[in-house]
Amino acid sequence: MNSKNLKFFLNDLKSQINLSTIHTDSDTLEKYSKDETSNLLSLPNIVIKAKNSNEISLILKLCNKYNIPITPRGAGTGVTGGAIPTSGGVVLSLEYMNKILEIDKKNMTATVEPGAITGEIQNESKAVGLMYPPDPASLDSCSIGGNVSEIAGGPKAVKYGTTKDYILGLEFITADGTIMKTGGKFVKNATGYNLTGIILGSEGTLVIITKIILKLLPLPPVTYDLLLPFDTLNKAIESVSQILTKGVIPATIEFMEKDALNLVTKNLNKSIPFPNAGAHLLIQIDGIDEENVLTQIETLSASIDIDIDNILVAQSDIQKKRLWDTRRSIRDSIVAESPIFLAEDCVVPRASIPQFLIELKKYLNSKNLKSIMFGHAGDGNVHIDILKGNIEDKEWNKIVPELKILNPGKIFNQS
Ligand SMILES: Cc1cc2nc3c(=O)[nH]c(=O)nc-3n(C[C@H](O)[C@H](O)[C@H](O)COP(=O)(O)OP(=O)(O)OC[C@H]3O[C@@H](n4cnc5c(N)ncnc54)[C@H](O)[C@@H]3O)c2cc1C
Repeated sequence: MNSKNLKFFLNDLKSQINLSTIHTDSDTLEKYSKDETSNLLSLPNIVIKAKNSNEISLILKLCNKYNIPITPRGAGTGVTGGAIPTSGGVVLSLEYMNKILEIDKKNMTATVEPGAITGEIQNESKAVGLMYPPDPASLDSCSIGGNVSEIAGGPKAVKYGTTKDYILGLEFITADGTIMKTGGKFVKNATGYNLTGIILGSEGTLVIITKIILKLLPLPPVTYDLLLPFDTLNKAIESVSQILTKGVIPATIEFMEKDALNLVTKNLNKSIPFPNAGAHLLIQIDGIDEENVLTQIETLSASIDIDIDNILVAQSDIQKKRLWDTRRSIRDSIVAESPIFLAEDCVVPRASIPQFLIELKKYLNSKNLKSIMFGHAGDGNVHIDILKGNIEDKEWNKIVPELKILNPGKIFNQS
């Protein structure tokens, strides 16, 4: 980047926007040089914490005029490196544009600024009997603008889909500073090109999103959580298709293999129900009333040939928390066991999960690598964490790039 241009850009910027918005101190530049992606870092020259769309439009016009790279940033929890300013220039933080502007109960929509925290949108919707379903594990810290740009998903994707299924309209600003709008508070929107669609998942490379209209759903009044033990991972995953094809669509279907549960028991001193099981499914069933939920549980139990007495059913908030605590403790117990580990996030067709994981485990075992596998059985998204443990740094640094370039499909076919 041309340093003269940068100087002119900064002078021009300072003459037109509030100085408190512009940051060039080394602490701030360092903080905004990274996100949650491991081992990636690149310093920006300037951090701008924008307060409104007009300001952003002006910043983009000036970036264009002086040829300065610009990287938008929400809360910086991304794991794709999208918020890292790899070419330097400006990091445009949306963190101050964090208002939930409106929850419209009649139209079942929320209108929000991009920096609004996802968990807060969920809480405000819940307070009026509505639900914003997408639930990335980072929901208490990530922003909705980041969710739209990454199409964030979570355990509820199996029944409710991901962020992309809830975007009714957007306000965004193009690279030349033009403010544009798509969609609105309506469900049907078939006129013209689907501009919203191209912006979803664009990771800040196309436009800066400045306002989002979200679809909300009625909050299901009754929710039960179930823990199901299986002899093997294969049986656990096979049962997922059996449940779904019987017409029961759980809100979540999470799987945890034996190694994951053993680690939780060992490192976090937690006892788990069914300690001898080879794998568990953690399933959430929701519905319009008690009868509806119980009928779904009966159908589910019949569909997988599991005695209903062997299903642990959590109805109260405390019981539910206990079940979910185990699932949510897996990462903490991995860190307790091996602070250094390689976290891989893969997606495979649901029916291929068992074969994929079994073959992958066999491969990793053959290399003396300890792995922990868990994830969203409902939508095929599996987490594979490979632990460094006692492996020497030199050896580990050699192994990691080899693992990273391995195409999971290649491992999958190796036996
Ligand atoms: C502990 C943890 C758990 C996680 N769990 C999940 C999970 O379950 N599911 C999941 O999908 N992800 C998960 N993530 C990843 C991350 O939280 C999501 O990708 C999230 O959507 C990022 O939001 P953010 O506000 O932090 O965005 P950032 O990291 O700030 O940015 C992400 C991308 O969006 C772009 N961007 C941000 N705001 C805007 C905007 N207003 N306009 C244009 N572009 C913009 C950035 O340029 C960047 O490319 C997890 C991360 C962590 C650390």
